[in-house]
This record gives sequence, structure tokens and C-alpha cells, in this order.
Amino acid sequence: HDTLTVGQLAELLKRNSSDIIKFLFMMGNMSTINTVLSDDDIELICMEFHCEPHKEIIIEEDDIEEQLGHIEDKEENLVPRPPVVTIMGHVDHGKTTLLDTIRKTNVTGEEFGGITQHIGAYQVNVNGRKVTFLDTPGHEAFTSMRARGAQVTDIVIIVVAADDGVMPQTKEAVDHAKAAGVPIVVAVNKMDKPGANPDRIMSEMAELGIMPEEWGGDTIFTKISAKTGEGVPELLETMLLVADMQELKANPNCLSSGTVIEAKLDKGRGPVATLLVQRGTLHAGDSIVVGSSFGRVRKMTNDRMQEIKHAEPSCPVEIIGLNDVPRAGDVFMAYANYKKAQEIANQRLEKQIEKERNQTSAMSLEDLAKKV
Ligand code: GDP
Ligand code: MG
Repeated sequence: HDTLTVGQLAELLKRNSSDIIKFLFMMGNMSTINTVLSDDDIELICMEFHCEPHKEIIIEEDDIEEQLGHIEDKEENLVPRPPVVTIMGHVDHGKTTLLDTIRKTNVTGEEFGGITQHIGAYQVNVNGRKVTFLDTPGHEAFTSMRARGAQVTDIVIIVVAADDGVMPQTKEAVDHAKAAGVPIVVAVNKMDKPGANPDRIMSEMAELGIMPEEWGGDTIFTKISAKTGEGVPELLETMLLVADMQELKANPNCLSSGTVIEAKLDKGRGPVATLLVQRGTLHAGDSIVVGSSFGRVRKMTNDRMQEIKHAEPSCPVEIIGLNDVPRAGDVFMAYANYKKAQEIANQRLEKQIEKERNQTSAMSLEDLAKKV
């Protein structure tokens, strides 16, 4: 077949066209009996109506957040995973410049050409090892993620401009890292500037309880210029050393779960979400639940906009196929089949509606009490 319509595929599968139309609708696509199907859709429809589920059902508990917190992997199933690093610091101190420099020097030119879109997370090779960088638009996103229990970063790099000093958002970054209980590496930036004064940065950070190693503390300070690239390799080496001390591991051989880094509604593609895989391997075609939304991973791309079929722990991916836009910080979880995912999502939606209803009625009772 060069092209295949909904009606033709239904005939091949000995199914009602309406079943397929309904299925596509659940995936967020409007169709009719004459709609020409994309290869991806054909694959998914065949999976749904024709083939066996590709995995065993191993999940019994229904509450996803709880599951994510309670799953303990056996030591023998754990393998090393790349560190997840967040660059934080005061506005204009050089976060974006640093991330750009890291990506330019650690991604081949050809690949860099493909990096046009902001997906909120990137993976680069540092000395032959993968490192994932989160590029959250602001501290706010990070705060809301943490408030909702999402622990996504392993290391925080705090950028402080050597010609400016510790500022309010520098303090915030320190607080974030402390609250998350993750190690800090300080990058004293803009060392190429005439007014650069790294000693001042060290004493101001020491006042916040971030004591430099050379002063007997346990935080490494590296002097860099994000602009010229000077000192950046040393910063990355330090970061890998800190990561090694944490012995970061995950189980790649189970149904996947992780956290939403960013999400938006795309006019052409529908809900688009950047996910950080934290456990298991996410496969194209997997059924996932995110909050009360769900869907099948219709297409999965990496940070270079290349289509991929599998994503292992610490890998950031952009996916489409959800029926609604999730929130940053939402947990996602893969299920063994589509129906199960649908069922869980519906249960969660009902719970959410009920909760909102209760809140409304509680509120009106209060209002009533006030009036009396
Ligand atoms: P962000 O707000 O923390 O993301 O800061 P940016 O990366 O956007 O940098 C703010 C400004 O500082 C830009 O004009 C950069 O070119 C400049 N800048 C960043 N790093 C350096 C550096 O190492 N040296 C110098 N001279 N300028 C820098
Ligand atoms: Mg920036």
C-alpha cells in the first residue's frame, strides 16, 4: 500500500472503522473513514488492535506518585546512569552563555546544526561520558517542581559573575540546592573582565555557608569565562568528579517513569512534553499516564530533534501523543497496555474533579459561615 485510509485498515484488521476512529480520537486525532493514515498511526493502530501487548503487566498499585516514591530496585538491577545537572544563578551572570559553550564544544558541528528548538534539557558528551543538563526557564519552574516532590537534578552548578558578586538569585540557587540536598559546584564566571574579583565571590559565598575547598570547606570553586571558554573543561571535570562520588544508578530494564520538564500545546502536533526518563526505558509506542492525561508515545525525539525509539535513564526526550498538556514537575509512568493507562488516567481525572468539587463546597460553606 502506498497510502492507507482508516476504512481500508479497518478492513485489513477485520475491525469496525468506528473503533479506529475512536482510538485515534483518544490519541488526540480527528479522523473519518477516508482519512489517510500516517505510518506512525498505522503502527499504533496495529499494536492496539492486532498485536499482543509487548510487555507483561507488572504494575498493580494505582497511585502513580506513590509508586514512583516507593519502587525500590534491587541492587543487582542497577546500572550507572548519566548525571543530571542544573545550571542556576543570578540573571545575566552567564547561565545561557555557559550552556551554549558547553554544547558547542561537546557536540559535533553537524549535530549542533540540528539544535534549533528549546526543549528544556540537553545531553552532551563530556570526556566520552554523557551528561544531562536541565535548562529550566527560571527558578520558578524549579521551585514548583520541587514543591510537587519532583527530584530531578543530581548536581547544581551556581554561576556567579566575578565582576558583580552574590545577588538575590544566587542566594535562591543556594537555597534550592540545599533544600534538594544536592552538591553544589560554583562557577566564578566572567574572569576575562577587568573588574573580576574571585576572592570577593568566595567570601560572599562562604557567608552563605558555601565554603570553598581551599579554605577548608567542601565546595569546589572553578574560575571560568563562559564567553571565551577558559576554565570550562576544568569545571566539567570537577562536575564529573562530584557525580562519581554519588554513584548514580538506575534500573533500565523495567516500565519507565520520570518527570515532565516542560510541556506546551503545539498548534500542529497537539500536546508536546519534554520528559526526563529516570527509571526504566521509555519506548516509542509505550502507553503512559501523566497526571490525569495519558496517551501513547506517538513520536519521541532527542534534544537534537532526531527521532529515537528508546530512551534510557537520565535521557531527556520530547514526546507527542498525550491527550492533554501536563504540568512541569508531573510524574509520568509507562503502563503495559493502552487500556490500563486509560483506566488509570480516568480514575485520576475523576479523583481530581471530586477534589475540586469538595474544595468548592467547602469554600461555599465557609462563605456561608461568614455571612451568618
Ligand atoms: P543569564 O541571564 O545568566 O543566562 O546570562 P547570559 O548568558 O545571557 O549572559 C549575560 C551577558 O553576559 C551576555 O551579554 C553575555 O555575553 C555576557 N557574558 C556571559 N558570560 C560572560 C563571560 O564569561 N565574560 C564576559 N565578558 N561576558 C559574559
Ligand atoms: Mg539565560
